[in-house]
Amino acid sequence: MDHFLYRNGILHAEDVAIPEIAATVGTPFYVYSAATLTRHFRLFDEALSGIDHLVCFAIKSNSNIAVLKLLGDLGAGMDVVSGGEYRRAKAAGVPGERIVFSGVGKTREEIHLALTGGIRQFNVESEPELIAISEIATALGVTAPVALRVNPDVDAHTHEKIATGKSENKFGIPIAKARKVYALAASLPGLRVTGVDVHIGSQLTELAPFEAAFRKIRELTTELRADGHDIRRLDLGGGLGIPYTRSNEAPPLPVEYVGVIKDVLGDLGCEIEIEPGRLISGNAGLLVSSVIYVKEGEGRKFLILDSAMNDLVRPSMYGAWHDIVPVTEPAPGTPVAPYDVVGPVCETGDTFARGRALVPLAPGDLVAFRSAGAYGASMSSEYNSRPLIPEVLVQGDRFAVIRARPSFDEMLARDTVPEWL
Ligand SMILES: *Cc1c(COP(=O)(O)O)cnc(C)c1O
Repeated sequence: MDHFLYRNGILHAEDVAIPEIAATVGTPFYVYSAATLTRHFRLFDEALSGIDHLVCFAIKSNSNIAVLKLLGDLGAGMDVVSGGEYRRAKAAGVPGERIVFSGVGKTREEIHLALTGGIRQFNVESEPELIAISEIATALGVTAPVALRVNPDVDAHTHEKIATGKSENKFGIPIAKARKVYALAASLPGLRVTGVDVHIGSQLTELAPFEAAFRKIRELTTELRADGHDIRRLDLGGGLGIPYTRSNEAPPLPVEYVGVIKDVLGDLGCEIEIEPGRLISGNAGLLVSSVIYVKEGEGRKFLILDSAMNDLVRPSMYGAWHDIVPVTEPAPGTPVAPYDVVGPVCETGDTFARGRALVPLAPGDLVAFRSAGAYGASMSSEYNSRPLIPEVLVQGDRFAVIRARPSFDEMLARDTVPEWL
């Protein structure tokens, strides 16, 4: 459920009309609903009530500091995958003890940053990384809390580019090797083993792969405890999918997902961490764009928008579907026609949808991409020297620009031409 509905024939974000925002900030822009972000965080948090838990928002899905502050103030922890994301979490006021650090290639600088700024735990993905953390913690005279991310070799049944839990993926420590690496962790100075971590992929639309992974984690936890490790915390990653189109079958609900966690792992006496990203931020955002031209091609009609693959890369990168809706509600029964919806970037891949059934649209009309709050702005680039687009947060009847569109002067000023040229 989200808070983007038509009212009096105009699409609104909560109580704010989309054209009002467009008139203020210009198109294209992202707009997020505070009520939707809050609602989605609470779905997880409330489902886990009764167990010691922390819901860590995966910052990579939406890294705007205002979004992080909103969630942090609700009690969310943060899952970061880089020093930049760690700094964002801190800038949003989230304390180090609520930040977990994931990712296969943490640099020594990043490890140092987290150890000096405070960290709940490193989710460690290899032996060399474990050794690096031990060395840096020892040099600093501190103890680093670590969980090992294990790769359970489970097929997440999702897009190959976002499946992370198969043995051929770069992520985690093969589960068969885990006991050996835990023994290494226990033997190294400067480390405290806190738990086990797993994350099998993103946009999962079934519970079975989660259940299979959690069963393997259960078995491993029992073995590790028998080996003498004090396993108190299980970090189960993120990955629960969202409906990108209303006609699709609905993915499982957070309460059903948490039900599997409780069924499989609830009696181990462990604190539970989860790292949802998409399910919290995805349906909490729209990308709003204007039609520049309608072009009649050879047997097809192109709707050319002012947003492009650099603003929302998911369709060209993953072949992803986003519902595209006109901001002015069409009268019931308005006939639809197939459009190829494209951006101005000079790539054929700059195509949002092919043959999409849309009502007639004209230059200047506003359209909105739904479910664009996750992996939208955070994956955007300046390709074709297109400035990063603004982000707007709505709460009730107010809205604020939470990232301004840079001027071309600001954009160009980042380049320098050497004197000798
Ligand atoms: C990407 C990622 C997540 C979040 O995944 P979603 O599908 O957005 O829930 C959580 N944990 C880790 C380690 C990730 O890489």
